[in-house]
Amino acid sequence: ETSRPTNFIRNIVIDDLDSGKHSTVVTRFPPEPNGHLHIGHAKSICLNFGLAAEFGGGTHLRFDDTNPLKESEDFARAILADVSWLGFEWKELRHASDYFEQLYDYAVHLIRNGKAYVEELSAEQIREYRGTLTEPGRDSPWRDRPAEESLDLFDRMRAGEFEDGRYVLRARIDMSSPNINLRDPVIYRIRNAPHHRTGDAWHIYPMYDWAHGISDAIEGITHSLCTLEFEDHRPLYDWFLDNIPAPCHPQQIEFARGNLDYTVMSKRRLRQLVEEGHVNGWDDPRMPTLSGLRRRGYTPESIRAFWNEMGVSKSESIIDMGVLENALRNDLNVRAPRSMAVLDPVKVVLTNYPEGEEEWLEAPVHPQDESMGTRQVALSRKIWIERADFMEDPPRKYFRLKPGGEVRLRHAFIIRCDDVIKDADGTVRELHCTFDPESRSGLPGASRKVKGTIHWVSAAHGVRAEVRQYDRLFSVPNPLGDKSRDFLEFLNPDSLEVIPDAVVEPEVARGEPGDFYQFERTGYFVHDSEDSRPGSPVLNRAVTLRDTWAR
Ligand code: ATP
Ligand code: MG
Ligand code: MG
Repeated sequence: ETSRPTNFIRNIVIDDLDSGKHSTVVTRFPPEPNGHLHIGHAKSICLNFGLAAEFGGGTHLRFDDTNPLKESEDFARAILADVSWLGFEWKELRHASDYFEQLYDYAVHLIRNGKAYVEELSAEQIREYRGTLTEPGRDSPWRDRPAEESLDLFDRMRAGEFEDGRYVLRARIDMSSPNINLRDPVIYRIRNAPHHRTGDAWHIYPMYDWAHGISDAIEGITHSLCTLEFEDHRPLYDWFLDNIPAPCHPQQIEFARGNLDYTVMSKRRLRQLVEEGHVNGWDDPRMPTLSGLRRRGYTPESIRAFWNEMGVSKSESIIDMGVLENALRNDLNVRAPRSMAVLDPVKVVLTNYPEGEEEWLEAPVHPQDESMGTRQVALSRKIWIERADFMEDPPRKYFRLKPGGEVRLRHAFIIRCDDVIKDADGTVRELHCTFDPESRSGLPGASRKVKGTIHWVSAAHGVRAEVRQYDRLFSVPNPLGDKSRDFLEFLNPDSLEVIPDAVVEPEVARGEPGDFYQFERTGYFVHDSEDSRPGSPVLNRAVTLRDTWAR
């Protein structure tokens, strides 16, 4: 994470500092509190906070809370928690609603200068008058309304005299501009709705474009970074700041959104998944939300490393989900303590192991990192192994357990399968095996070669655990790609598999929410932050091992 690959925005910042245009860097991250943040937002967070930190500046977290109908304090709290979790500290916490009074005054300034007017065409008429890409717009009959009249109406809009939609305030720019955003954009609308922070104080609310650039200027933002769809809004951003006595004029710079395949990344769609119950909440481990990824077992380090590696550019692309998974694997591979868990247990009786005895074997916490120390692995006469690690009629190159065959039990010794005990329906109930005492780890016989090593858990010590395995939320790379179909049709019906009766080592059962492990040969798992309890663990598979069923 220390090497910070260069990008065009970083170069602009360096130039601005070198030329003396700016003496510091102030960026902002401006989420709307209308949902939880997703992995795409993390790209913007890493970029804004990372850049400011690198050059000794600061980042404001500013809630873009200009639409009272969809926003809430709960969402705002969740957003703060997610940004903190990612590892970033805002220098200032601001709200666009902090500036409502000032935004209003600036609008009055525009009206006084003949650069804004109160419109009474309907929304539909406004759309119609606006023209198209190939056709210029037409002037509204209200475009030349005297300033005094607009000021009076605007004041009464604010006071709550009119119903929603009766009037809007429009900037008076250029109805024939090739850029449709400049054809007299609406900057205020009536919304007789209480706001989660300003209560009943306002009956009009500013539009995003109006609130955004001015908020940037009020806060002394130097570089206002946003996604490419706002490129066409930049002339408007600049026009607003050029036509009011703005304290400064930040530079808007656009970059490509971060996209991942097999998921959706718009809050509207994510909200629909939650509200219609297709997932179990915003933090469902299958969701691309930061809260979902956290619950799934993603670490902030892995997400920061991922976006750092992906870089920032102006070309749109869709990143393979496997790249994100790999970032997590790389992180957990280094940090996760090792343990053994059996997800689909079948019992093995070691017939030559004394009844009623137990022992504790020493194993490294991490095979490549001695500094992580050692752990104790319980062993007794009965153990669990994976059902898939035994085959009665195996193919030729099967190196796990088979009748008459041998495997090594990880950290213990070699066993041989003598007897297969089956239920009436042919299901294997128990395997009777003998162990080779000479082959214990540490003894000379330990070097005896057998082809397979399998994991296991002592039956007397193992604790039953619920294991949740996740697959992609959608079964196609781009669920929004086919405009003729509803994206919900592409939900993957097998995205969640619940295993109610896996067995884990006792130490894992004592783990806390958020603790993670590599279960050897199986994958990386984390205690579910909501449902796991000491003694009755619930573990989420964060990510598989590179090769899940290696010998
Ligand atoms: P969505 O469409 O998912 O609701 P949004 O842009 O409406 O996203 P905001 O809360 O307004 O959501 O986003 C806050 C900031 O995060 C904005 O500056 C936005 O540009 C940025 N952002 C949102 N999605 C992405 C993404 N996929 N990649 C990079 N930045 C993003
Ligand atoms: Mg937005
Ligand atoms: Mg949005």
